[in-house]
Amino acid sequence: MQAFPTSKKAFYEKLRRSKYVGFDMDHTIVKYKHYNLSVMIFDCLKKLMVKEKIYPKKILQQPFVPECCVKGCILDIKNGNLVKIDQQKRVTRALHGDKILDKKTIKEIYGEDRKLTKFTGLRKGGYWSVPTYFDLAEGILFNRITAMNDRGEFGTKRDGNSIFKTVFGSGSKLFRDYNFGEFYQRFPRNIPKYVNDNSFSTLNILKTLKKMGKKTFLLTNSNPDYGTVLLNNLFRNEWKSYFDIILYSSKKPTFFDPDNNNPFIDAKTKKRTKLQFKGVYQNGNITELMNFFRIENGEEIVYFGDHPITDLREAKINCNWTTLAIVEELNYCTNEGHDEYINSRNSRNLLWGNYLQCGNNFSYWGDVFMKYTDHQVSDLGSFWEKWKGDWMLKNN
Ligand SMILES: [Mg+2]
Repeated sequence: MQAFPTSKKAFYEKLRRSKYVGFDMDHTIVKYKHYNLSVMIFDCLKKLMVKEKIYPKKILQQPFVPECCVKGCILDIKNGNLVKIDQQKRVTRALHGDKILDKKTIKEIYGEDRKLTKFTGLRKGGYWSVPTYFDLAEGILFNRITAMNDRGEFGTKRDGNSIFKTVFGSGSKLFRDYNFGEFYQRFPRNIPKYVNDNSFSTLNILKTLKKMGKKTFLLTNSNPDYGTVLLNNLFRNEWKSYFDIILYSSKKPTFFDPDNNNPFIDAKTKKRTKLQFKGVYQNGNITELMNFFRIENGEEIVYFGDHPITDLREAKINCNWTTLAIVEELNYCTNEGHDEYINSRNSRNLLWGNYLQCGNNFSYWGDVFMKYTDHQVSDLGSFWEKWKGDWMLKNN
């Protein structure tokens, strides 16, 4: 396997010199139990689609089959295929319903070079990616419904676009409003079932950053209701005092677009307001945040995130932030503190293989991490274990 360039020392130095340190929430400071979470979302989605009479009741019997779609898959909407691509955007694996597509078929569909030329990493231009574990259930359900459609189980056959709209439209609906739907009812009732307790390392990192005189912020796309319930449960209210400013519903990647002028609003009153330290806000835009921070050189802001595009590439390209990637899959070879789901999926998943690799090349996502991140770790726990030694050595 190709290794990422060694970047630890340079990153620690940038962290030492930085003025602000920001964190994404989901899959960064909150470490989910992927299997339990995905099974629950899969179940909620099926029920929602039956309730809204989009599909007949028999879709409820479709089992959760993790092999159908893994993190990193890209959905070619028109053709109804899930594919994996390498750093040159060449399709290396493809699945349509129950059919694994061979190289000849892949070339017939995507041309002799097998390239998804128009894919930019963003969810547009006929493609939809599955870059986090939150999106897995939708990818798996898309594949299962495509298989049923191919077998003619819904009468008139639907095309890829129509199946896409039903599955991903229902997904958006499920997560859109904290006061609507089964996911937000089930999740808060049993948070330990869906989330690993990573609070010890996270709080130690935040406390150390405060000792170093850094300003800290939370920048997440999750809504304030969900974020508050989740973080209060995990960190027992202690976390708020370690963040200088909290930004919810940020709509990354648009947040980082220099032309975006979406105003910040107060998370409680929902009124447009100016940023202040110790405030809690939602929406917003990068220009106002950078002006508030009074930072001209983006490198002085360090951001910890997991999403290769919306957290990391866009923050690096648009703002030159120093980026640390949380890539759980870096821990493939060890079971140390790691989610069994990822390990079992990767040792057994013969169809998709490694998230970061395509043979001897990087996968598309591996290449993004390599180009646009300053350092990569498997989780905040492992970051803390390595960094605390370095930090203590220099401060004692
Ligand atoms: Mg995230």
